[in-house]
This record gives sequence, structure tokens and C-alpha cells, in this order.
Amino acid sequence: MTRAAVSYTPGADLALTEVELGEVRAHDVKVRFMASGLCHTDVSIATGDMSVAMPIIPGHEGAGIVEDVGSAVSGLRPGDHVAFTGVIACGRCRACERGLPNLCEWGLPTIMSGRHPDGDLRTFDPSGTGLHQWACLGTLAERAIVPERSVIPIPDDVPFDVAAIAGCGVLTGAGAVLNRSSVRPGSSAVVFGCGGVGLSAVQACRLIGATTIIAVDPVRAKRELALRLGATHAIDPTSRDAVEAVRELTDGRGADHAFECTGVATVVRQAWDAVGVDGTVVTMGIAPAGSTVELPADELWSTEKSLRSSLYGSGYPRKDIPLLLELYRQGRLPIEEMITARYALDDVNAAVSDLKSGRNARGVILMND
Ligand SMILES: [Zn+2]
Ligand SMILES: [Zn+2]
Repeated sequence: MTRAAVSYTPGADLALTEVELGEVRAHDVKVRFMASGLCHTDVSIATGDMSVAMPIIPGHEGAGIVEDVGSAVSGLRPGDHVAFTGVIACGRCRACERGLPNLCEWGLPTIMSGRHPDGDLRTFDPSGTGLHQWACLGTLAERAIVPERSVIPIPDDVPFDVAAIAGCGVLTGAGAVLNRSSVRPGSSAVVFGCGGVGLSAVQACRLIGATTIIAVDPVRAKRELALRLGATHAIDPTSRDAVEAVRELTDGRGADHAFECTGVATVVRQAWDAVGVDGTVVTMGIAPAGSTVELPADELWSTEKSLRSSLYGSGYPRKDIPLLLELYRQGRLPIEEMITARYALDDVNAAVSDLKSGRNARGVILMND
């Protein structure tokens, strides 16, 4: 028996319950999770803002140790330390062939279904009810059976909490800068929203050599953290107009790049207004369905500005997660600084409410057996 945090009813607290794991099939890997980050989509599932099949175990950024592998699994052995990718790819569809595995036509519906690629469930509660696993993972658990495609080996010397958040928050924020923008040495960039994703964007801008990096966040602790991690300026949007402040800091021209990590439509518009001619806005915040963004149409011809979105780092998680962890090992990407709270699995609901209140840059659940 092992334990998991389960969302049975949208809006209700997660229920900690004993679960039974099914058999390890040919392409399965059984893992013991050691750490799990908490990300906005996990909370959106628990609150019902994002509708998924229930009951479900949330959690899609985790790290742990392999306990067992299916008969067809190669390259993984019990005892291996691993992280996980929250998207899986077929390698054969048009998106995969174009080098966009994060948009895989098969992978996205599969992870959204909460079921394994074979359509079945692997986890059962004491009443025998099958439990879905968010993103084929469900990392808010002590153990799980996950598809081989989701598993990424990591070096033994990387702490599990660091590896966990590399799998979504860090990949999303840093990947948007590294893979979806053309930030260069000397660029100016503004980052709206400085949780784990935004702080990772700040750090990636610093890695590349951007010389003006402006962090915008209403929470003082997050602005201070952004300044420690590479921002050259920090703006509190509740005390002054963020667009005006960015223009002042960029000789009145506006920034070269903006990264939008909040998912709030009015902030997307601010990001647009904060970049200058030829400026690029990359959005990665998760906006509620139905919200819309209005843009000044004349600027679409007169400024050569562009608006792009980035999903899950816009790259190859299998290449990018190990790259981010290598940068961490070299001391060039201090991922651990973004973890502002650690919780036991028993306190998972406190972690959810702290995330909702915006207290943490990143909260991580540490499993203990
Ligand atoms: Zn594909
Ligand atoms: Zn995530």
C-alpha cells in the first residue's frame, strides 16, 4: 500500500488516502516519488477551474527513484534517479516531425485524459475505484506507475526537489526564453509575474546576457528574489504603472522582449504595451477559458511587434530538462533558490492554499515513506 492525494470533488480539499497500484505492464515504470512541485494547473484541477476526469491524483512535476520496470522498458533500472516530463510525444505526428513534441497531437489529449497511453488506469483507492493520474503522472503520491515515455533519468547528485521543479516550472519559464524568444546579450526584457515560471525566465535572460531585466510582481518577497536571481530592476505594479516604468527604464522605447507568466488578459495587454518596435511578447500564463485580449490594430502594421505563446518550454523536454539540471550543477542556474516552502505530503492542502494566496515562488512537497 502507498498513499496519494486525491481530488474526488472539484473545490473540495485533496483527500489523503491509501492506494493500491496495479500490475507493471510492458511499457510501465514503477517509481517512488521523493519530491513533487505544486503548479497552478494542479490547483486548477483541485478547484475545478480546469475540468478533468475525476477522481484524479494531481501533480505533474516530480522526481524520485525507479522501483520496477516493465518487460519492454530499456535504459532504466531499479534504483535510477529520475525526473518526469509532463507532456509525452509520439515522435510521428506532424507536430513531432516539425520538432514540436510539446504540441504532440497524440500526447496532449493523452495527458489530459488522466489515463495511461493504453487507456487504462493503474491506481485504485480502498473501495476499488480507479484513480486518474494528471499528465499520466499524479506526482502527489508516494508511488505510482507511469509510462516509460514520461521518465527522464537524472544524475544522482541533483536534489530531488530541484529536479522536481525543473520538470515544469523551470522548463516553462526558461524554455520560453531559450527556445521561443531571440533574447541576446545586451537585450532588454521585462517579466510579468515572478513565481517559479517568471523567476526561471529572469534567470534564463541573465544566462544569455540580457543587460536590462525588469521583474514585475505585486509581492515584495518575489521582487526581492527576482533581484537576487538576475533582475536589474523590480517594479510593484500596485504602486505605479508598470508600462510607464518599463518605458522609463528603456530610454522611452519599451523593452525588446516581454514574458507574460500570469495568464491575466490585462497583463498580456500590458506586456504588449511595454515592448517597443520589433518587440516580442511571449505568453506562458494559463488564462481562464473565455477571457480575451484586445490589441491596438494600428500597431500591428506600424510597429512590427509580435505576440507568441509558449507551451511547456517550446522544446524537447528530454533534452532540455537534463540541460537545465546541468546548468544547475555548474552553479549557473540556482534552481533551489526558487523553492520558498517545503511541505510534508500530509500538509498538501496547506501547500495548495499557500499557492492560491501567492505566498510562494515555488512550494515543494517532500514525501517521506
Ligand atoms: Zn506526436
Ligand atoms: Zn506545471
